Amino acid sequence: MSETPKAPVKGRPEALFPLFADIETLPGVGPKSAKLMAALHIEKPVDLVFTLPASGIDRRKRASVLGADLPGVVTVEVTIGQHWAPARRGGAYRVTVEDAETSFQIVFFRAHDEYLRRMLPTGERRIVSGKVEIFDGVPQMVHPDHMLPAEDAGDIPDFEPVYPLTAGLTQGVIRKAVAGALARLPEIAEWIDPGQKTREGWPDWADALQAAHAPQSMGDLGAAHPARVRLAYDELMAHQLTLALARSAFKRAKGRATIGSGTLQRRVMDALPYKPTNAQTHAISEIAADMAREIKMNRLLQGDVGSGKTLVALNALLIAVEAGGQGVMMAPTEILARQHLEGLRPLAESAGVVLEILTGRDKGPERRAKLAALKAGDIQILVGTHAVFQKDVEFGDLRLAIVDEQHRFGVRQRLELGRKGASVDVLVMTATPIPRSLSLAQYGDMDISVLDEKPPGRKPIATALVNIARMDEVVEKLRHAIAEGRQAYWVCPLVEESEVSDLSSAEERFRRLRAALGEGVVGLVHGQMPPEEKDAAMRAFQRREISVLVATTVIEVGVDVPNASIMVIERAESFGLAQLHQLRGRVGRGEAASTCLLMYQAPLSEGGERRLATMRDTEDGFRIAEVDLEMRGAGDVIGTAQSGLPRFRIADLEGQAALMAIAQSDARKLLSDDPDLTSPRGQAARVLLWLMERDQAIRLISVG
Ligand code: ADP
Ligand code: MG
Repeated sequence: MSETPKAPVKGRPEALFPLFADIETLPGVGPKSAKLMAALHIEKPVDLVFTLPASGIDRRKRASVLGADLPGVVTVEVTIGQHWAPARRGGAYRVTVEDAETSFQIVFFRAHDEYLRRMLPTGERRIVSGKVEIFDGVPQMVHPDHMLPAEDAGDIPDFEPVYPLTAGLTQGVIRKAVAGALARLPEIAEWIDPGQKTREGWPDWADALQAAHAPQSMGDLGAAHPARVRLAYDELMAHQLTLALARSAFKRAKGRATIGSGTLQRRVMDALPYKPTNAQTHAISEIAADMAREIKMNRLLQGDVGSGKTLVALNALLIAVEAGGQGVMMAPTEILARQHLEGLRPLAESAGVVLEILTGRDKGPERRAKLAALKAGDIQILVGTHAVFQKDVEFGDLRLAIVDEQHRFGVRQRLELGRKGASVDVLVMTATPIPRSLSLAQYGDMDISVLDEKPPGRKPIATALVNIARMDEVVEKLRHAIAEGRQAYWVCPLVEESEVSDLSSAEERFRRLRAALGEGVVGLVHGQMPPEEKDAAMRAFQRREISVLVATTVIEVGVDVPNASIMVIERAESFGLAQLHQLRGRVGRGEAASTCLLMYQAPLSEGGERRLATMRDTEDGFRIAEVDLEMRGAGDVIGTAQSGLPRFRIADLEGQAALMAIAQSDARKLLSDDPDLTSPRGQAARVLLWLMERDQAIRLISVG
């Protein structure tokens, strides 16, 4: 598994060669069209094969343009009348024609008289097809798509596919090239389970492609057409097979049985002021079972903000320690790592466990001392940032790695992490609720535990939308709340992508609030502060020394101050839904009823209004995620580039979650029946991976 990602993969089945040949080997494709196609990501015949028509044109013949839905495409048989050459250069060339009921004009610009007289000889019968519009009360067909002798009418298809276009490529060129590519479809064995295929009434692969490119009506273009469903399934299957291969490679890697004694966990539970939720208990037992097995754990812990992931993580770490080993927990930012340290340390200490932190701030002798203690096994749990990844960080006996808040991590990075500690169990934690279809696409290689239950006693957060013009009222209310001992976050707008303007707006707000509420009441924290000042501000807020914390979005993830019960978000319309949800999740953790004020600048855009209304109407992270997905599409929600998700050409992640689930269980079953993909169906599945260019998967089978 040492190949670089770009290394060419050898061994493509010969049957597929024609589909992977130069695009210019297709009829009608020269260097110019090849360049235009490249802009559409069409570089090989196989790319054309998977580029399905987006719409179609009904070219069924009718008797007359009269009564047709105009403007629109009409196909009629006509008698050619008089030709009218343009009076001046650049004028229109007109031909009067007569169909069964009326006469109309065919119009050309920049036409060759001679050519037109040959194509449309006066007095003859012709069949013409093209877009007809009424101009000055007269129907006109400008530049017909087809002009044929009446006896050749059969050459015009009743329904013509229309492909997604780029400027300069004509439908004719694409259609011809597609036909050329389809003529090359090889005979390949079926990779879909025969039962599944029969049940769904799916066509064979080649038939499905032929049908998808030859729609007979608008209805055939729908995603629910069996040919399209089958082709979408193929794409999802190739993806799920890739994930399933990654999963089984991970599992095949030798793991160690890490079995906890329960002593430390029990001590921590006894020290807790609350009882774990059922969801927490369940997740802990799933993790314990994974760790106890002699295979590597590759599990995702998914739970909305405030669902109590930290306790689950701690128990997992304690299992590693009970078994005589060590655990590490990585957070994406310094603030979060410190937050984890502060949350975990008292609990760990109550169990007599040594917990330390390692971040980029550790330097010199102090760092060396920590590294030595880590290597000697004197530090049992390490919390840190990416700094724990550095080469010189060595553990005595690392058994568990936890990655927190890593929805930005993709499949590839996870594989890398797995490689790092040869037999280390991996637990990824994410606070970002994502719709099922996406979690299947993104985390299909992992086992998943979900915290779908919040700790009891959480009060709903009252969320209100407030016009920013009412700023003074908001500050006044804040003054009263502070007087009652409440604490508030005040999140400043994302002015632009620029940290400088974020910063200046936060500093400005800080000064104004301080002027309004008094010295020593308001603190400020932002991304560009020196780390010590950041810590100091956070600590002052945690200790209730200040009542209001003005912040840029650095507080977004993970920060836990239970007494804070007010969240003000300025220019809330400029934030995305996921971010708003994370920010609001900072309050509603304590005894007091909490409030979230979403301050906006009118007028709101349609999208802004929908986002804010969604926030006001629900606290359910999954529902918010569904709306987010609907509004932005899959690629943007998870960031396709970073997530390592392929670009699906046919499948629709938003609409085909059920199909994705079937593909996942199918892929896993295929691999458990035939781990090396050597059975006839396994061989066919290999061809599918080649066809879909799943290089990562292909590497896994070639090393496996
Ligand atoms: P997450 O990381 O999932 O956002 P945390 O682990 O930070 O959530 O927990 C949020 C808050 O809930 C913390 O203050 C924590 O102490 C508290 N908490 C966790 N589990 C429980 C529980 N079972 N009962 C009551 N409070 C809990
Ligand atoms: Mg957390």
